[in-house]
Order: sequence, then C-alpha cells, then structure tokens
Amino acid sequence: MPRPFGLLAELTYACPLHCPYCSNPLDLGDYRRELSTSEWQRVLAEARQLGVLQLHLSGGEPLLRRDLVTIVHGASELGLYTNLITSGIGLSPERAEQLREAGLGHVQISLQADEAALSDRIAGARSFERKLAAARLVKELGWPLTLNVVLHRHNLDRVADVLDLARELEADRVELANTQYYGWAWRNRQALLPSREQLDRAEAVVRAARERWRGRMEIVYVLPDYYERYPKPCMGGWGRRQLTVAPNGDAFPCPAAQVLPLPRANVREHPLAWIWERSPLFQRFRGTDWMPEPCRSCARRELDFGGCRCQAFLLTGDAARTDPVCHLSPDHGLVIEAVRAADEGRRSLRVAPVPRPHPERRSRPAPPSGPPGGRRRGPGQRFDPQPPTPVDRPRREGV
Ligand code: SF4
Ligand code: SF4
Repeated sequence: MPRPFGLLAELTYACPLHCPYCSNPLDLGDYRRELSTSEWQRVLAEARQLGVLQLHLSGGEPLLRRDLVTIVHGASELGLYTNLITSGIGLSPERAEQLREAGLGHVQISLQADEAALSDRIAGARSFERKLAAARLVKELGWPLTLNVVLHRHNLDRVADVLDLARELEADRVELANTQYYGWAWRNRQALLPSREQLDRAEAVVRAARERWRGRMEIVYVLPDYYERYPKPCMGGWGRRQLTVAPNGDAFPCPAAQVLPLPRANVREHPLAWIWERSPLFQRFRGTDWMPEPCRSCARRELDFGGCRCQAFLLTGDAARTDPVCHLSPDHGLVIEAVRAADEGRRSLRVAPVPRPHPERRSRPAPPSGPPGGRRRGPGQRFDPQPPTPVDRPRREGV
C-alpha cells in the first residue's frame, strides 16, 4: 500500500475573489458545514501517522479561517512542513507575524496579471495592490516566496511582464500554470482556452527568462494539458502520493474528484487511515487493474496512469475511460475540437466567462448551470463581454 506524502487541506471555500478558473466546486453549498478546529487537528494527527510530511493549507481563502494560526501551530508541533496557498488578501503584518511564530514554512501568493486593471478584472475584485503588499510582507518576514499565476487566453500574452514583476518582488519561485479545466475553469473553458500561437509565444518567453534568471528565480511552467500528446500523471497516480480534505471533511484523491459520481468518504465518519487504505473511493482507480484499452496494454501506463480521471469524466461522462488528452484515446477528437475552436478564435470574444460567486459559508445557493456565454451578473463584479475576462496538484513542467 502506498503512503501519502502530501495533504491538501481546503480549510474553507469562502474567498473574497471571483476567479473564473477557480478549481472549487460549482456547488459550494455542499461544503458550508466546515470542519471545526479540533476536527482539523485530529485529521492532521491522523495524516501524520499515515506518513504525510507536507501540509498545503488552501481553500478558497485559508486566511478567512480565524483559527488558521492555531491549525498551523498544531501542524508544526506534529512535524508537518506547512505551506500557505493564498490570494494574499487578509495577510496583515500582525497575522503574518503570528503565522511565522506558529511555524508556517512557506507562502504561495496568487497573481492574476502584472498590472492592476487586468488583475482586478480577472479576480473580480480590487485586489492587485493588496497582493503586492502581501508579497512584500512575505519577503520582509524571511519566508521563501512563490507566486502562482494561472495562465489563460486573457493573460498569456503578458507572461514577460508577469516575470518582470516577479523579479521586482524578489520571488524565489514562480509557478506559471496553464489553466486546468475543472470546476469553474471547466464552466468557462470556451472563454479561457488560449490559441496555439499564444502558447508558442509564451513558451519562448519562459525559455529566455529561465536562462536570464538561472540560479536567482525558479520558473515552473505547467504544460497546457489540451495541447500535449500525452496526459499528465494526475496526482502522481490515484491514491498514491496525495490526498485532499475538503472544508466539510470529504476526502478525495485529488481536489477535482468532487465531480465524480463515486461514493463519498468523510473524515467525520471514518478515520483517515481507513479512507486511504480501504474506502471504495480511494481504491477505485488505484494501480492499473481498472484500466481499459488502450491504456491496459500501453507502455506508459505506469508513467501517466491513464491520465486524469476527472478530465475523462468531464469530457466523456465516464471516469474510467482513457484521458481524452492522450492522442491514443478514442475520445481524443473532443480535445482536438476544443483546441480548434480556440485556435480559430471564433468563440473567444463573444463568450463572457462566469465569475465564481461570492462564497458564503452558510447560505449561498448553487450557481445556475446554464450554458457558458450567458451574460450573468456576478455578485462581485459584472464581466464585460467585449473583451471577456476570465491550487494544488502535482504538475508537469515543460518548456
Ligand atoms: S482561484 Fe480565485 S476565487 Fe478561487 S479560491 Fe483562489 S483566489 Fe479564490
Ligand atoms: S494510452 Fe493510456 S497509458 Fe498510454 S499514453 Fe495514453 S493515457 Fe497514457
């Protein structure tokens, strides 16, 4: 039985921003009964016993949890390395000092773009300047700083400027992650997919920047899934290295797996060890026995594990099929068609992405699920369709 190395603790799905590529579930109402402080402390202790060494604290916006310092302190006492994945909103100097004293090891701050107007438009809220202030605070307090930038049609052409800003902020590491189409990104896929030309230009910029800043700033480039010949080894394999616990205690092999029609496993009902080792959910796609052809007889089956189960489900309606991103998949035409549409740009400037709604922790109803492109007023900000504007998984690097 493999042992988990990392736990993604999604402390809350509440967030002050409205990113249209957010990986949180579309129906946030299912997750509003959040785990208490003591429940998280028990989960972390069980995770440590299972072998987990790295704890990624995410959301939503984890800084909205008033007990974040307590949770970090408890995790540090258990010997977990803690990493805060945040929008930066709410990281006051006082809070940052408390988190540092509690033992927080690392901070990742998301950036939507290199300048305020575009960044705020993508985030659906005025936030750019506060993000910069948070990034500077992280450096002042001596933490290593990682900047996370989700790339898509609306900011891909600004990669050079984003990297310049990262240098100015003295980031130790930048993760340029092409959008992965789950959650709200799946909902907004037509408005977010870039063209091949955009990707080629961005990759050239990243190659040059890596040369220029070698040894001074690490640049991670997460490949654009839909444009590759082979799929990513999602989560390093189902139930092999990572697990996620959602705000309501549901445990998953990956944060996007909430979408799959599989039996739930919740830490309020079962110990984490049972969930990891014996739950039907974690066993369903573990290993290679479940694989259909062409994966079953493919030489790469232990390398990419047949790709992403969530992507297979979203694209084909069957989580047990070969990931259609793979050029060997019988469903690969679905990806070709989506890419062709993006390349032609025929949908691009007519489709307004839907902003993620303001996620209240107690009463927000499920968002409507009409077709992408319908004009809808988000609770935070309305998107203008001319032009439209649009966490933590193991990722493949490229370029
Ligand atoms: S992607 Fe944006 S909206 Fe979603 S949790 Fe992160 S900051 Fe909040
Ligand atoms: S056929 Fe399956 S195992 Fe082979 S490369 Fe494609 S997704 Fe991977």
